[in-house]
Amino acid sequence: MEMQKNPLGFKVLMVYDGLGENNASARRIRALKHDLEAKEIQVELSECFNDARAVIASDPTVECVLLNLDDDPDHKYRHTLELLENLRERNPDVPVFLMACRTLASEVPADILNKVNDFIWILEDTADFIAGRITAAIKRYRKYILPPMFKALAKFAKVHEYSWHTPGHTGGTAFLKAPAGRAFFNFFKEPVFRSDLSISVGELGSLLDHSGPIGESEKYIAEVFGSDRSYTVTNGSSTSNRVILMASVTRNQVALVDRNCHKSVEQGLTMCGAVPAYLIPARNQYGIIGPIPPQRLAKEAVDGVLKDNKLIKEGIDPRPVHAVVTNSTYDGLCYNVNRVKELLGQSVDRLHFDEAWYGYARFNPMYCERYAMCGDIKNYNRDDPTIFATQSTHKLLAAFSQASMIHIREGRKPIDHKRFNESFMMHASTSPFYPIIASNDISAKMMDGTRGKALTEDSIYEAIDFRQTVARLHAEFADQDDWFLNIWQPDYVTDAKSGQKVPFYEASAEQLAHDPSAWYLRSGDEWHGFGEMEDGYCMLDPIKVTVTTPGMLDNGNYDQWGIPAAILTAYLDNRGIVVEKTQDFSILFLFSLGVTKGKWGTLLNALFAFKEDYDNNTPLKRVLPAIYKDNEERYQNMGLRDLADEMFAKMAELGTTKALNAGFSVLPQPDMTPVESFENLVRNNVESLKLNEMAGRTVATGVVPYPPGIPLLMPGENAGDANGPLLGYLKSLEAFDRHFPGFTHDIHGVEPDADGNYEIMCIKQN
Ligand SMILES: *Cc1c(COP(=O)(O)O)cnc(C)c1O
Repeated sequence: MEMQKNPLGFKVLMVYDGLGENNASARRIRALKHDLEAKEIQVELSECFNDARAVIASDPTVECVLLNLDDDPDHKYRHTLELLENLRERNPDVPVFLMACRTLASEVPADILNKVNDFIWILEDTADFIAGRITAAIKRYRKYILPPMFKALAKFAKVHEYSWHTPGHTGGTAFLKAPAGRAFFNFFKEPVFRSDLSISVGELGSLLDHSGPIGESEKYIAEVFGSDRSYTVTNGSSTSNRVILMASVTRNQVALVDRNCHKSVEQGLTMCGAVPAYLIPARNQYGIIGPIPPQRLAKEAVDGVLKDNKLIKEGIDPRPVHAVVTNSTYDGLCYNVNRVKELLGQSVDRLHFDEAWYGYARFNPMYCERYAMCGDIKNYNRDDPTIFATQSTHKLLAAFSQASMIHIREGRKPIDHKRFNESFMMHASTSPFYPIIASNDISAKMMDGTRGKALTEDSIYEAIDFRQTVARLHAEFADQDDWFLNIWQPDYVTDAKSGQKVPFYEASAEQLAHDPSAWYLRSGDEWHGFGEMEDGYCMLDPIKVTVTTPGMLDNGNYDQWGIPAAILTAYLDNRGIVVEKTQDFSILFLFSLGVTKGKWGTLLNALFAFKEDYDNNTPLKRVLPAIYKDNEERYQNMGLRDLADEMFAKMAELGTTKALNAGFSVLPQPDMTPVESFENLVRNNVESLKLNEMAGRTVATGVVPYPPGIPLLMPGENAGDANGPLLGYLKSLEAFDRHFPGFTHDIHGVEPDADGNYEIMCIKQN
């Protein structure tokens, strides 16, 4: 097995017009190119400034630029300067050499000088000498741009050693011995296997001890994300949440928990034996989960919640030791964290923000004050609560799946590293996958300095472009009494210059991309549907885009007609477009860092095609072939509009959206804590019951409908009355699923039997 040359794929960009000519400069530059290539440095030639600009804009692997000084007196260095300005905006660090022959350094304007590193005097210096200087600059640059763990890993993977330690595939060689293994090896290619190393490789340090390059990478991450300490976790934020809960709360201690919490928080509460007391978020007519309103975070409200909790009885200290808040919400609602701290800090010393979908927030001023690690760590008031954040690096930054980070700011009641690490190790493998660890420090490096702002701003602009286009189309179609999809966002924006209210689609994109207040949920604005809202408390994140389908009025009543969003989702799926989340009349799209310029054009085309197929009532056989094929009898001779009409009528009859809101607006009664419920499960003191057998029964597992993905029932909670809101909502989903095969809901904790009857595990009554 031979390591590939230039494994990082870096290159030198040479900008020079007339390399093939027969004159002294061209000959010298040809020799230089040759010398560099002999040193295994790849050189890409660009013969005009426009081409060079295109390379710089699209190719971040350029590790050095050799730029011909455009010293034609007519231009006065204009091209050179423009190119440099372009380059420095994107990359302040890449070394740039100006190749000059006639000009004196003293004649070059300061504007240019301060953007380049050095001159190459083509006719005076030897090619060898120049090549040497370039290689030295490249080395320094590589050292600088690569974060600690990846740098060490890439270096180590180059060392060809015979290993006698795990992993037993030893750099991939074990796979070569059988056809399936060989196919696996060929697919992933050698560097993956060479970087799959174990803790026995001392040079790379250890994740459990946070030593060596791995430890350095965590320190680097802490610097970039503004924490006192950061931890790399290789099994997702699911594990990060459990680590924090296990470190902070123990048996029979009270934790305040956002009811809009991820499954892993429920599991963490089970593992640590906490007594949870829930904070209820707002929700709107679309079933979108809002923030927990500020008045519910205030001391008196929290005291009320604790007082009402049946599980906080004699012998249990009612003072909560920990609070978990999901920020931002799945749908992109972000809190003013300082306000949350001020309110919730009156009840609890440790705040834990689940920011699984929100790792980018620190890198764009748009989110100022709206993420856990906001502001400068040096100014953190140590009398404030201790703050934890968990971020799934893989979700909205660039990292391998499972890569996650825990960030900690120490305030009141801190947990020192030694104690915290016991919980960390309890959840960690002793053989973590090193490429995941390296991808965490790479994602930090990618956001460091000015780059994070540039990258996040690109996503924000793309999202705004899409939002404005759809809103404009919606308005245009409405003018002709026709329909189109819309977007859940402010209808009007106050123009910063004129002070006038303008329709969202006419607002300046520049303002929308830089003015957070354009995205606030304000009292008196109808669009968000959360009613009264303290100004600036909550903001809609521009990059989380909720497209709405017709059918739901602002007042929460069904319209005369409608198109359930599940149909649009299935339609898009058939065209190879997979959405993030579907609710009754809305679909969520993420404009993540990976979104390429104009990618949304494809989506827009598909939305147009959907409108056309809906209006033409195109046969399902053609537009939803997979669902049709599996359920031919059910959907025979139906068109897209027929299906939408029938489904909409059924939803109106069942009142699914209202049932959802009712189901989630009450807090079920807890009969026991999550851990007590889990103990019953382990002892097999449980039975599966149908919905009509569940009145008054205690569920043994959480019941979490997706969407919205927040628990309807937590383990140990009571299902309530036969006709109460909880069982009522589940019954409406069950009835819907029976009617529309191919569109059934996905509900964790529910197992439908062969006839489609929901079954849920409950605690046996002895
Ligand atoms: C996805 C998610 C998690 C879990 O993150 P993984 O990295 O997938 O383990 C935790 N919390 C929230 C709010 C999430 O959406």
